[in-house]
Amino acid sequence: MANLVDEARDLQEEIVAHRRYIHQHAELSMDLPMTTAYVTEQLKKMGYEPQSICQSGIVATAGRKRPGKVILLRADMDALPITEDTEEPFKSTNGAMHACGHDLHTAMLLGAAKLLKEHEQEIEGTVKLMFQPAEETLLGAKTMVEAGVLENPTVDMTMMIHVATGMPIPAGLILTPGSGSFSATSDWFGIKIQGKGGHGAMPEMAVDPLIAASNIHLGLQSILSREMAAADSVVVTIGKYAGGQTANIIPDCAEMEGTIRTFDNAHRDFVKKRMNEIVEGIATAYRCTAEVTFGNGCPSVLVPKEGSVDFAQIMEGLFGASSLVSMEDIMPGGKLMGSEDFAFITEKVPGIMSVLTAGDAREGYVYPQHHPKAIFTEDVLYRGAAAYAGFALEWLQKQS
Ligand SMILES: [Zn+2]
Ligand SMILES: [Zn+2]
Repeated sequence: MANLVDEARDLQEEIVAHRRYIHQHAELSMDLPMTTAYVTEQLKKMGYEPQSICQSGIVATAGRKRPGKVILLRADMDALPITEDTEEPFKSTNGAMHACGHDLHTAMLLGAAKLLKEHEQEIEGTVKLMFQPAEETLLGAKTMVEAGVLENPTVDMTMMIHVATGMPIPAGLILTPGSGSFSATSDWFGIKIQGKGGHGAMPEMAVDPLIAASNIHLGLQSILSREMAAADSVVVTIGKYAGGQTANIIPDCAEMEGTIRTFDNAHRDFVKKRMNEIVEGIATAYRCTAEVTFGNGCPSVLVPKEGSVDFAQIMEGLFGASSLVSMEDIMPGGKLMGSEDFAFITEKVPGIMSVLTAGDAREGYVYPQHHPKAIFTEDVLYRGAAAYAGFALEWLQKQS
């Protein structure tokens, strides 16, 4: 299997070209016409019959020559609404930017698609390639699951890779996940506080929603400090806090928006329940009314024990033990507080989430993902392609 890494290295230039095209044509959420046209054309050139199963969702299969299980490899293709501020010669100039590295994922999976075609006779079962839209808006994986990506043929195992930059870690390492929750659950919320506007000089005639908002902001923090165990990892962040127009007017209403992160659906439900109670109680105490609304969120990515052991063994066989890193090496506390909509897949089918390091902060890759100056090293692209293809081939062989 070490040969597969050499074969992938031979495709490096091609994978870089894929990455640069996709990077330069960054597109958002569910609307990826240029990206999907490119991916479809490349897959057809390799001999695949790609299917569009929903808006901007592409599936192609390799293998099916021999009986066996079905493994799904997933790449996301969407960018972020950020104006790129890098010096890359292939930078995007359309107001959207691949600042999370999904362009690398798509290019790596195209590289893997080529390797799998070349090894198609050896595939002991079926490999399904999933190119999804809208990871950043948490809509893509869910939409593709609803469109049947896990059926016909029914998927037994899944795997994805996310690149990482901006940390003081050498590039080209592969994270071997432990079992259990890999990423946090994610929920968005909005709070509307209704008071009664009035003259700033006569507060007794008004009901000030900003007083209620201030106390609600502080009150919500007590859920974490007083109601959750210290070892539980929960975040409640208010990222937007708005109300009022000018100095001498008491506003009519105030608004807050924020996000909740947990690693457990029970915590997720508990935080939401307590938020409702605290917001309503504090608003009432200050003579206001308030409403909390929750937006579409996603669960945790769950990695099964057996799959994580298989993944580590296969990656060690491909790249050697010195190329592997653990979660503790990459994330403070060994947990990813970010979320991944791949969780909608691991809710149904066992799956592996891995990380490929793609930019060492000590070597100039100082900006984190989602930053307008974030850059990634392309040197690692062939490794991602080999990891995708190698895991699929070997996992299927282990099952047969
Ligand atoms: Zn992202
Ligand atoms: Zn991402």
